[in-house]
Amino acid sequence: MDVADLREALGPGQPGYRARQLYEAIYRGQAPSLARVSTLPAGLRQALAERHSMGLPEIARRYESADGTRRYLLRLEDGRSVETVLMPEGRRDTVCISSQVGCAVDCKFCMTALLGLERNLTAGEIVGQVLVAAREKQAARLNIVMMGQGEPLLNLENVIKATRLLLDPAGFGLSPRRITVSTAGIAPRIAELGREPVRPKLAVSLNASTEEMRRELMPITRKYHLKELMEACKAYPLRSWEKLTFEYVLLKDVNDTDADARRVVKLLANLNAKLNLIALNPGPEIPYQAPSPERVSSFQQIVRRSLACFIRKPRGLDIYAACGQLKSYAPAAACTVPASCCRAPSVSNRR
Ligand code: SAH
Repeated sequence: MDVADLREALGPGQPGYRARQLYEAIYRGQAPSLARVSTLPAGLRQALAERHSMGLPEIARRYESADGTRRYLLRLEDGRSVETVLMPEGRRDTVCISSQVGCAVDCKFCMTALLGLERNLTAGEIVGQVLVAAREKQAARLNIVMMGQGEPLLNLENVIKATRLLLDPAGFGLSPRRITVSTAGIAPRIAELGREPVRPKLAVSLNASTEEMRRELMPITRKYHLKELMEACKAYPLRSWEKLTFEYVLLKDVNDTDADARRVVKLLANLNAKLNLIALNPGPEIPYQAPSPERVSSFQQIVRRSLACFIRKPRGLDIYAACGQLKSYAPAAACTVPASCCRAPSVSNRR
């Protein structure tokens, strides 16, 4: 809820500043429940609690990688689950959040595709993931990437509302440089995102150097052609400090040749862009293999002559937390949520 939603929730007859007090308590103060919003009179809190619930998604399972990455399986109010990944990185932690339960895009190298789409997340559930991560890792400065389950641009309205809530200086107060949304390439929605006055940074999953290959790996290309995608990227209004990020999953002997690298350079020519290479994170149901480190490096060297190109280090591979591995895998044995935590009611004052 934003301030206007909260004003409505409080009902008529309340002074205007009450909605703002509540808003600040939730997003800036990160109050875990209505009972803890001490700026509101007790009677008002009680009346509100009779009509509304306030709380965070419950951590159903927590997995911790040897490299420090944590994967959270969060239980939503309707009993469905979604994943959030926290990657400690020195002074700044990166939180990878989901935009949908499952995904409809069906990329052939991604395990989330195997879930299909269950539903969109609400703006509250998107922000809730960030608040859960912030509570888990207090005092850390956060980078948010919307690169978890789902295709953010197919849930654009809620993604935009969540972004506004996270960036609002009176609320969570994140800098616009600290939040990035990644898309499989829904070209018309890229244009729509570009028209938003408050928006995250944009990353585009390219993953192929030709229309044919992209169509094979990412069937969504049949609807949104590579050509149309590149035109949308060229027309995208970047802010003065901003670059477009492209991501490219390298699949052994499929899209990882030097010729592919040269074609990628051509595609990205004249764009203010950088490229992140991701060697495939393999999975049991994925019919591709990871390229050798030498192949990845050779690809990088070619691209680097023309634009900034980085190799993304896999994080949390051992706990199914890395790119393309999020499919709500939930073995009880490896879970580190204390038993008392599993039994505790969710942080909510709903009666
Ligand atoms: N649907 C959005 C958000 C997901 S981001 C998108 O496609 O951009 C997830 C990133 O991980 C994407 O760049 C995707 O191409 C990449 N990815 C998917 N499966 C992968 C795998 N098995 N190994 C490595 N990267 C993968």
